[in-house]
Amino acid sequence: MASSKKKCIIIGAGYAGLAAARTLVGEGGDRLEVVVLEAGHRVGGRAHTESLGQCGYAEFGATWLHGVVNHPVYEAALRLKYMDGTEKERAGMQWGTSQYVLEGAAAALEGADALAAAKAAPANGGGGGGSSAVPAAAGSIGTFVRQRFQQLDLAARGNVACDAWAWRERLQRAIDGCHTTDDMNAASMAEYHELPGPNIPLPCGYQAVAEHFAEGLDIRFGQRVERVRYDAHGVHVTVAGGAELAADAVIVTVSLGVLKAEHEHMFSPPLPPCKASAIAALAMGCVDKLFIEFGAAVGPAQASCCAVMWITGADAVAMEAATDEEVCRGVQGVLDAFPAISLAGRPFRVRRTRWGADPLFRGSYSYCPAGARAADMDALAAPVVSGPSPNPGPGGAAGGQAAPPRVLFAGEATHRSYFGTVHGAYFSGQREARRLLAAFGVHSGAHVLSSIGSA
Ligand SMILES: Cc1cc2nc3c(=O)[nH]c(=O)nc-3n(C[C@H](O)[C@H](O)[C@H](O)COP(=O)(O)OP(=O)(O)OC[C@H]3O[C@@H](n4cnc5c(N)ncnc54)[C@H](O)[C@@H]3O)c2cc1C
Repeated sequence: MASSKKKCIIIGAGYAGLAAARTLVGEGGDRLEVVVLEAGHRVGGRAHTESLGQCGYAEFGATWLHGVVNHPVYEAALRLKYMDGTEKERAGMQWGTSQYVLEGAAAALEGADALAAAKAAPANGGGGGGSSAVPAAAGSIGTFVRQRFQQLDLAARGNVACDAWAWRERLQRAIDGCHTTDDMNAASMAEYHELPGPNIPLPCGYQAVAEHFAEGLDIRFGQRVERVRYDAHGVHVTVAGGAELAADAVIVTVSLGVLKAEHEHMFSPPLPPCKASAIAALAMGCVDKLFIEFGAAVGPAQASCCAVMWITGADAVAMEAATDEEVCRGVQGVLDAFPAISLAGRPFRVRRTRWGADPLFRGSYSYCPAGARAADMDALAAPVVSGPSPNPGPGGAAGGQAAPPRVLFAGEATHRSYFGTVHGAYFSGQREARRLLAAFGVHSGAHVLSSIGSA
C-alpha cells in the first residue's frame, strides 16, 4: 500500500535548511517524510567553524549574534550551556570602535561610526534613527554618509580623519556585505532590523549549534542538486550522478549567489518572471577572512597566536584570485606597516576563505543594491505553485481550492527584515516549513524536536 505520508525535500543544510527540517519534523511528526540534500560534507553552510590548532577555533563565516533576544542560536547555546547569558558575558565581548584606534583617532572614528550606523528613514521623513537618519531618497548609503562626514569638521583633523573614514567605509562593506557603499540602497536600511540586545560572538562556534540542530534529521551529504522538475502532481529532484527523488514539495535554501548562477538550468519549468527578476535585482557581496597563524617565537611570552583580517568587496574578489604566495606577500606588507606590533618578523602561515569563488555559495551574504527594491526579497520568498490540484475531493485538496505550493524558497536573502544573517536564515526556514504544513493540512502538534525561536 502506498505511503500516505507527505514527502518533503530540503535543498541545503545551512541554518535555513536545518530550521525548515526541524520545524517539519518537530511540528509535522510522523505524517511527513523529510530528507535534506546537502552538496557539501558538513552542516552549517556559511556558518562554518574550523580548528586553528593551538589558537583554538575560528569562525570562517558567520561570527556575531546580531542581538540576542529571541535569537534561535543564542537560545540553543544557553540551553546547551555553551553560554551562560550573564551581563558579564555580554559586556566582555561587544564590538566597538575604541579598540581599533590610533592615538587621536577615536573622535573621528566615533563620528564616522555614528553616521554609518544611522538607520534609514522613509522618504516622507517618518521612522528611522533620529537626527542623522538616512532618508530613503538619499539613494546610496555611500553618498549619504560621505556628505554627512564632510559636514563633521573632521577634515580639520587631517589624515587621521580621512583614514578613519576609509576604514569605516571598509567596515560598512563588511557589515552590509555590499561591494561598495555606493551600491547599497539607502531605502533597504529602513527594512533591516536587528534583534534586541548586544552584538556578541558565540564562544562555542556556530558549527556546534548547527550540529545540534542537525541531530535526528535525515541529511544526505555529497548530494548536489542539479535539477528540480515540478508540476501539479509534485516534484522530482535530480542530484549529480543522476539519482532522482520524488516528493510532494521541495524547499530550496541555496544562496542567492547559487540561484543567480544556476536557476535557469536548475528549474523546469523555469521560475516565473517575477522571481527571475528578483534574483537578478538583488545582490550578493563578497566578504572574506584571512587567518594568520604565527608560530611560537623564542621567549616565554611568545606562544603561538592568531590574527584575523577581514577583506571586502573588490579587494576580496582579488584576494580570492591571488596565489598563496601573493596573499602572504600582502599580509607581510600589512605587518611591515605596523612595526610596533611585536608580531612583525615572526613566521606565519595564512588560511583564507573564498566565499565568492566557492560554487556552493558564490558570495557571502545578500544585500539590496541601488536599483533593487525590498519587495524583491518578498518575490524571492514567494513559493511557486504549479497548476490546479490534481485530486480534488476526499484525501486531496477540495475542488476549487488553491493548489499546494511545490517549490518553496528559504535562506537569508528571502527575509525582508533579517537578510544577511543567521537568524534571518533560520526564521525563513521556519516560515517555509509552516507554510508547507498549513498547505498540506498537517499539524500534529507533536514537538518531537523542540522548535526554537519564532519568526
Ligand atoms: C564571512 C561571513 C561573515 C558572516 N558574518 C555573520 C555574522 O556575524 N552574523 C550573522 O548572523 N551572519 C553572518 N553571516 C551571514 C550568515 O552566515 C548567512 O546569512 C547564513 O549562514 C545563511 O544561511 P542559509 O541557510 O540561508 O544559506 P547557506 O548557509 O548558504 O546554506 C545553503 C546550503 O546549501 C548547500 N548547497 C548549495 N548548492 C547546493 C545544491 N545545488 N544542492 C544541494 N545543496 C546545495 C550549501 O552547501 C549550503 O550548505 C556571515 C557570512 C559570511 C560568509
